[in-house]
Amino acid sequence: MAELIRMMRTLDQQVARCSRCGMCQSVCPLYNITKNESDVARGKLMLLDGLMRAFFEDPKGVWQRLDQCLLCGSCAANCPRGVNVVEIFLNARVIISGYRRMPLLKKIIFRHLLSNPDRFDRIISWGSKWQYLFFKKTDFQVDASCAGMISPLFSDRWMLPLAPVPFHKMSGVPVKKKIETGPRVAFFVGCLLDKVFPRVALDIVRILNFHGVQVIIPRSQGCCGIPALSSGDHLTFNRLVAYNLELFAPSDFDYLVTGCATCTATIKKIWPSMFKSSSEDQKAVVDQLAEKTYDISQFLVDVIGVRLPEKPERQVSKPVATYHDPCHLRKTLDVYSQPRLLIQANDAYAFAEMPDAASCCGMGGSFNLAHYNLSADIGKKKVASIEITGASVVATGCPACMIQLSDMLARGKKQIRVAHVVELYSENISHPDILCR
Ligand code: SF4
Ligand code: SF4
Repeated sequence: MAELIRMMRTLDQQVARCSRCGMCQSVCPLYNITKNESDVARGKLMLLDGLMRAFFEDPKGVWQRLDQCLLCGSCAANCPRGVNVVEIFLNARVIISGYRRMPLLKKIIFRHLLSNPDRFDRIISWGSKWQYLFFKKTDFQVDASCAGMISPLFSDRWMLPLAPVPFHKMSGVPVKKKIETGPRVAFFVGCLLDKVFPRVALDIVRILNFHGVQVIIPRSQGCCGIPALSSGDHLTFNRLVAYNLELFAPSDFDYLVTGCATCTATIKKIWPSMFKSSSEDQKAVVDQLAEKTYDISQFLVDVIGVRLPEKPERQVSKPVATYHDPCHLRKTLDVYSQPRLLIQANDAYAFAEMPDAASCCGMGGSFNLAHYNLSADIGKKKVASIEITGASVVATGCPACMIQLSDMLARGKKQIRVAHVVELYSENISHPDILCR
């Protein structure tokens, strides 16, 4: 309890920075749908201002209001006072779940599965074998399978299947091509690239090798911890960060690269601010890792120096590709030009900017699970923006956004391919030495 009160006092100081100006209202994707002041950052911060009292009177009610948030960071990115809204909300969720009992299902998932990567891998591997007993395959969209007999649990989502073989089982580590002069890069794969999109992880390794980069892929990597922390489970988050610190020693590599916007933002911004350790050495390692961490598109453009090739403008009709900005790249890390450049490097497509490319797709991790109808209402707006461009492919830099876009497009019966930016860039690469596994 003493720790909770100390955390509440710290939170009070952070909340006090908010001037209640309301600038966050117009950019909040949730407020734009519900028009409820309690959904926007200002309303939630006012609630937290009296947290001590509200929390003892009605912890469940406070939780419900805090839980209805995508943690997209649109408010923080537009706040003139620099209020770190996402960190405040994460801290508040930790405080409240320290007081309330965590739901049993979440406890099992976070404390017994996610925090034990080998066990988690075994369960997912079992799930990938038996998934089609629960989800029916459809030929409408190659990747999506409409939830059938368990639709009460998953609503009418169009789910992407687990990969038959996850990336960590495919990769011979270290990768085979011998490169001794290029920068050394540690690849943090992340749960979704490993288990749902191993093809994207393979493309990342292939591209890095093509550019003369040594790739190090530590085995048995853990989750970055953000799903647990978003649910207020600080214990699991700390365990996962500590687990990953053992695998990623900063002295072993020059850069740490991920292909997941959420993992990148978590390692760069959330690990340094939210990881608790009594060891000063561990905290120093977290800071060094944050410093070395790059999104793959940022790494390729800013570090490797990928540039658009100079080609004569050809008047031929090409399929259109467009780009959706993941919130954690655009708003948290200010990365937006680099992925666009990689898409445009592929001459097979004409690039078209969609309206409101930076607006949230509605995924928000566990928000999508808990508030699917709201998530879908936000997602439908994104589909309308994509359609305006006439694109046959929409690229993005976050596997969670890829899942949401696939679902939303499938629901709208739109035959538009969803791809990771590196997939489009990779199509462009042909080199005799490229890694083929
Ligand atoms: S924009 Fe910032 S200061 Fe203004 S109400 Fe929102 S959080 Fe508070
Ligand atoms: S994080 Fe996103 S959804 Fe949550 S209050 Fe801020 S803008 Fe709204």
